Amino acid sequence: MRASTDNIIRVGNGYDVHALEEGLPMRLCGVDIPSEKGFVAHSDGDVAVHALCDALLGAAALGDIGLHFPDSDPKYKGINSLDLLSEVVTMLKDSGLNNGMTYEIGNADITIALQEPKLRPHIDQMRETLAGVMRIDVSRVSVKATTTERLGFVGRGEGCEVWATVLIRTKSS
Ligand code: MG
Repeated sequence: MRASTDNIIRVGNGYDVHALEEGLPMRLCGVDIPSEKGFVAHSDGDVAVHALCDALLGAAALGDIGLHFPDSDPKYKGINSLDLLSEVVTMLKDSGLNNGMTYEIGNADITIALQEPKLRPHIDQMRETLAGVMRIDVSRVSVKATTTERLGFVGRGEGCEVWATVLIRTKSS
């Protein structure tokens, strides 16, 4: 008997770290953040979108961002990470489930650990930007920010750490 793909609910998590350096641009969740420091990266350095992509890929057991978008490939140099997220969303929809089923995104919850600057003024724009690319209502997208009370590499302003959790579920396509 073929396993039913109706109403399957799956969870995924993603994690990423990027180093910070003076004079580089900082983009998080697709939003450009005024900051003295920014991310050292092959792409645009959007560490939050990378963690979110890994959570989505993980939920569907489709590998990880490094597998699909290798940083050894010059094609991805300086790329807007939202373009990667858009490709990942398409991969979920086309992931070849049986019986005409596809995955839809239930919700996403992102935690950004960054010492400075304060991200509070940008949170709503981040949520709207991610929701737009994932084509879901903004009420399903949570972005939270925390410092680490000046402890560790995040607290010393050397890097930014992000965790993402998502829920996906099957539906008739
Ligand atoms: Mg990354």
